[in-house]
Amino acid sequence: MSIKERLDRIKATLPEGVKLVAVSKFHPVERLQEAYDAGQRIFGESRPQEMAAKHAELPTDIEWSMIGHLQTNKVKMIASFVSMIASVDSERLIEEIEKQAAKHNRIIDILLEVHVAQEDTKSGWAKEELDTYLATGKLQAMEHVRVRGVMTIASNTDDEAIVRSDFERIRAIFEELKPTFGNEFDTLSIGMSDDYPIALEYGSTMVRIGTAIFGQREY
Ligand SMILES: *Cc1c(COP(=O)(O)O)cnc(C)c1O
Repeated sequence: MSIKERLDRIKATLPEGVKLVAVSKFHPVERLQEAYDAGQRIFGESRPQEMAAKHAELPTDIEWSMIGHLQTNKVKMIASFVSMIASVDSERLIEEIEKQAAKHNRIIDILLEVHVAQEDTKSGWAKEELDTYLATGKLQAMEHVRVRGVMTIASNTDDEAIVRSDFERIRAIFEELKPTFGNEFDTLSIGMSDDYPIALEYGSTMVRIGTAIFGQREY
């Protein structure tokens, strides 16, 4: 199946208003161009260097979304063009994004990555840590960072009940945080190739799909 056919099939299953991030990490620009030519405009990458290189080669109306763990010292590589940083997991990172976005006179959309999976290995805030940080009011006062919602990666398991409980928990956190940020806080980013149909049941507004569009990655 071509990339266009895969994209069309996936898009046909997405309710109106749900955004599709085509996760293109580790795939060459030719494959991204193919997706672009099929109408795809939002691409997700996990490494800043790779994102910057692809950004330089591909059309300028692509919205680039950083989905991988981002080191503070690498924010500057993408700050001039990135649309969204979906993997924001620390105060230091937020402060650096604020600083770099200000330098470029931009506002960068972010998602707070919250850890809900039943595994120690996953990145993201522990909910209690996030609450402590939000209570300081610092994030709400930033002028170049716009908090759009939350993101998580569900447990990597075949046990659907565990995946469902992860999604239920992140959805509850999303609802709980909404009043803090207001109308702009509209994004619940859950769902990857293997679990996005379930994520849609839990109100996902942004799925992040790689393998089901581009095939297996070669690391
Ligand atoms: C790689 C990645 C994806 C895409 O995973 P697939 O299983 O290939 O769909 C989605 N979200 C994040 C955070 C990722 O790192």
